[in-house]
Amino acid sequence: MQDFCELNPTELAALFKEHGEKEYHATQVIEWVYGKGILNWDAMSNLSKNLKQKLASLIRLPVLQLVHIQDSNDLETYKFLWKLPDGKLVESVLICSGDRRTVCVSSQVGCPAKCAFCASGKEGFYRNLRPAEIVEQVVQINAWLLAKGERVSHIVYMGMGEPLKNYDPVLKSIRLLCDPALLNLSERRITVSTVGIVEGIKRLTHEDLKVNLVLSLHAPNQKIRTKIIPYARKYPLEDILAAMDEYTRRTKRDITFEYILIAGINDHPDHAHELAHLLHGKQCTVNLIPYNPVAGLRLKRPEKKAVKLFRSVLFGSRVVNTCRYTKGDDIAAACGQLAMQKAEELAEVTSGATSLTVIS
Ligand code: SF4
Repeated sequence: MQDFCELNPTELAALFKEHGEKEYHATQVIEWVYGKGILNWDAMSNLSKNLKQKLASLIRLPVLQLVHIQDSNDLETYKFLWKLPDGKLVESVLICSGDRRTVCVSSQVGCPAKCAFCASGKEGFYRNLRPAEIVEQVVQINAWLLAKGERVSHIVYMGMGEPLKNYDPVLKSIRLLCDPALLNLSERRITVSTVGIVEGIKRLTHEDLKVNLVLSLHAPNQKIRTKIIPYARKYPLEDILAAMDEYTRRTKRDITFEYILIAGINDHPDHAHELAHLLHGKQCTVNLIPYNPVAGLRLKRPEKKAVKLFRSVLFGSRVVNTCRYTKGDDIAAACGQLAMQKAEELAEVTSGATSLTVIS
C-alpha cells in the first residue's frame, strides 16, 4: 500500500492509470487533500463509492493519527502529537506570529546526534521518518488551519531528529511541499536546521533549491563543540563552515547560526570574542538562545548580565545577533535542536493552557 502524501501529481496519476482509473480523478483527490484539507476518502463527494473503496484499499490516507493538540495561553503556539503506524510518537509545533503560520516538523523518531543539551538524543534513535510522515505533519496542520480560513506559510525542519541524517526522505518532502500542484510553498519559506552534517550540506548545495540553512553552532571552537555535540568529532568545524560558505555562495541565501548559551560552557566574553573572530566577514545572523534548564540534565542557563555582556561583545564586533528567551516563536526557532527545551518551554507556556484536545 502506498502513502498518499508520498506521491507527487505525476506518480499519483500513474497509479490511477495503472489501476484502470481515469487520471483526472487524481487531480480531484489532490484538491480534496491539499486544497480543502480533507483526508478522508468517504468525504470526497465527487468520487463514486466504488472508486473510494478501491482507493482506500490501494492508498493509505492518513498515515498520522492525531493524539492531541495542546495550545499555549496566548494561542500563538500549538503542539501536535502524532501516532505513527508503528505506534511511535512524534511532535510538530505550529507557531502563529502575525500573518505567519510556521510549522516545525520532526524528521526522525528520536535522534542519533545525542547533543548534550537535548533529550531527544538521550532517548536514543528509533528510525527515520518516511516522506509521507513528514509531509503529512504539514498537510494535517494545514487542514486544521484551513477550517479557520488560514494556511501554513513557513516550515522549519527543527523538530525531533537531524534532517540531514535522513536526507532523501527530507528532500522528497521538501519537493512535495513546494510542488505547485500540491501545497505550493515557496522554497524560501522553508528552513532546514543541522548540527553540521557536512556531506548533507554539500548535497543540499547542489539540489537547485533555495531553502534556508541554519547551523546549530553552539560553540566558538571545535574543542567546546565536541563536548556538547558528539557529531562534532566526526565533522570538524572548519569543514562545516567551508560547506556552509559554499552553500551560501551557490544559493545566495544568508547563513543563520543558532547558539545556545549554556552557563560556564560557552557563555564567557572570551567565547564571544572567539565567536566574532570565527564568523568575521560572513553575511550571517547569530540567534542566541539562553539555555532553559531541564530535569535530568545538569546544564544551566546563564545569568541575564552574562547574556548581555556576550551580546555586547558581538555587537562591538559588528556581528548581527538576536536573543530569544523561552516564549512563542522562541520555541519555533529552538525546537528540535532544543527538543528537550521545547518540551519544557511548551510545558511552561501551556501550564494553565486553555485547552487540551484529546482526539483519540
Ligand atoms: S539537538 Fe537536534 S540534532 Fe541534537 S540530539 Fe536534539 S534533535 Fe538531535
